[in-house]
Amino acid sequence: MPLVSMRQLLDEAAKGGYGVGAFNVNDMEQIQAIMGAAKETNSPVIIQASRGARQFAQDRYLFHLILAAAELNPDIPIAMHQDHGNSFETCKSAIELGYTSVMMDGSLKEDGKTPSTFEENVEVTRKVVEYAHERGVTVEGEIGVLGGVEDGHGAGGTGLEHITDPDQAVEFAERTGVDALAIAIGTSHGAYKFTKKPDGSVLKMDVLIAIHKRLPQTHLVMHGSSSVPKDLQDVVNKYGGKLKETWGVPVEEIQLGIRNGVRKINVDTDNRLAMTGAIRKVLWETPEKFDPRDYMKPAREAMQKVVALRMTQFGQAGHAGDYKPMLITEIAKGYADGSLDTRPSMAAAR
Ligand SMILES: [Zn+2]
Repeated sequence: MPLVSMRQLLDEAAKGGYGVGAFNVNDMEQIQAIMGAAKETNSPVIIQASRGARQFAQDRYLFHLILAAAELNPDIPIAMHQDHGNSFETCKSAIELGYTSVMMDGSLKEDGKTPSTFEENVEVTRKVVEYAHERGVTVEGEIGVLGGVEDGHGAGGTGLEHITDPDQAVEFAERTGVDALAIAIGTSHGAYKFTKKPDGSVLKMDVLIAIHKRLPQTHLVMHGSSSVPKDLQDVVNKYGGKLKETWGVPVEEIQLGIRNGVRKINVDTDNRLAMTGAIRKVLWETPEKFDPRDYMKPAREAMQKVVALRMTQFGQAGHAGDYKPMLITEIAKGYADGSLDTRPSMAAAR
């Protein structure tokens, strides 16, 4: 199956009332872990690569690995997404490579660190939307600023400094026409999200619900949404790791989000922890081993287990065969004739 538009994948998720995990990849084993989980649970998938990942693996290697995943799994819809594009150029290069979706994170300036102004964000995101939609490619924007730093990208902080303002979210959607929107509701990137178990008073779920009510056509995205389960932390620390105690986003909060318009959930940290724990265990228990396969195989299995569990919890499990994937060129027609226009004024007029 050719790579599928993320828009189609998220539209279908909205119809089915479920969420889709977007899992980050840097290498072959992570791609295999995701595809193994997708096959096991019969799930559509979003595979995403950050700028750091594209650099680490090199564009052509990474992209051809994804194509291999598509070739080997003809029954599973796969969208390939650029995570946190920092500029028009980054998004354009991903689209030229064949990515079916891009995130233009205009909430930060091009340095990926300094919060931008609302007008700057609108301007660069609108430019990416115009370029991408002509080519049938999906665009995710961001409004408000997420906390933490990952892969050198992020403003730092706790994630509570720049909570998304629902009025701004509506104006942003209207002026950019994004398909999906990442909002800041108190989540952060990286392993250290919360110093105590977060509850409804920490995550601004009421903001999320308010935005979904006003933007029912725009798919909401939760970033920094690893749950950082204690059992994964414990394995790392048991075998020589030194992680400080930390809490992630509880799965129940994500599920509440999914009931209120969240269609894409970004998960990276949990997979990193699972792989690191598995590798540490092998090296700790059998220090005489030196064949990378001896620890990469358990690492891949550990990540597959986490991904399969998330796919089940997000509800995407069982939905791989629900629909016939459309060609990107067909999607481009939908943008051109307005039938895929998500802007509030246009959606209301339909
Ligand atoms: Zn993110």
